[in-house]
Amino acid sequence: MGDLPSHDAILAELERLVPKVEQAIAGAVSTHDLDQVHATYLGRQDGAITKLRKSIGQVADIPTKKLLGAAINEKWNALEEAFRTRTELLHADEERSRIAGEWIDLTIPEEPLSRGTLHPITEVLNAIRQVFGSLGYRFVEGPEVEYDRYNFTFVNMPPDHPSRDTQDTYFIDDTRLLRTQTSSVQVRAMRVYGAPMSAIVIGRCFRRDNDATHAPIFYQAEGICIDTDISLADLKGTLLYFMQSFFGTDRKIRLRPHHFPFTEPSFEIDISCMRCNGSGCSLCRKSGWIEVLGSGMIHPTVLENGGIDPSRYRGFAFGVGLERMAMLKYNIQHIRHLYENDIRFLTPRRDA
Ligand SMILES: [Zn+2]
Repeated sequence: MGDLPSHDAILAELERLVPKVEQAIAGAVSTHDLDQVHATYLGRQDGAITKLRKSIGQVADIPTKKLLGAAINEKWNALEEAFRTRTELLHADEERSRIAGEWIDLTIPEEPLSRGTLHPITEVLNAIRQVFGSLGYRFVEGPEVEYDRYNFTFVNMPPDHPSRDTQDTYFIDDTRLLRTQTSSVQVRAMRVYGAPMSAIVIGRCFRRDNDATHAPIFYQAEGICIDTDISLADLKGTLLYFMQSFFGTDRKIRLRPHHFPFTEPSFEIDISCMRCNGSGCSLCRKSGWIEVLGSGMIHPTVLENGGIDPSRYRGFAFGVGLERMAMLKYNIQHIRHLYENDIRFLTPRRDA
């Protein structure tokens, strides 16, 4: 009988185990921990107290067996109750932290979105559209790969004309090239729309040219205005409005005689220096004036090439480089800054 568990031994073991279980329950920091503790002591097969309860079956004396059974059950039920209580508590904690992790405060202001700014060339382009749109000019376009005749011959630059030498041209083949000037669209527009007409073309041009103020790909805007009574005064008034709209109403302009094959007479247009206001500085090379664009009265031959009768109609034309406009307006030193896409250059509001 010595091998059989005694009443006292079972009770002693129960008294030893119960505080351990209570401690383990209190020490569990998660429901997962708690499940482990439950399995260790009250597990269906291997729980320490489960085994103790099974050992009662080997006690011979029935009343003793009943007493032990009652004692263990009482502790068992108390422990199960402690497990339930602790489980509820830990479960609630876990829910709270799960929800806290998922919680989004919709009232916190979002990081401001940084909106891009327009490229300086785009700003100039928009300004030109604005000015000439308000004057009722028609916006026209032409091909960048152009026939020699539209780019040169029809605008009074026949094959042997010396002006061709000043425009280093990218030729595609004997008859086609990358247009060197938006003047290529003049005759196209005249042939399509006839007279009277006022039109502006803004687009890319190409020349073998590369220095601080010239890029091989550049933007030009070309305006033409044709009617029966167009005079030099109209040209001057239009360009004064253009320049004042773009550079400010303080600007004055002057016409300086020049030569272009497609206009007669021809002028270079200077504006009074925006930095020194005409008194002379490094920007205007002490002259007080800055050259901005070329213009003139459309040559009768060009009108004829466009199918417009030069004995009835007259017109003016002007061409301006958008890079030059941007560099002057935003005080940009080298044309390459416009094309390097350096975000530090492009981001600040230049005209703020
Ligand atoms: Zn100046």
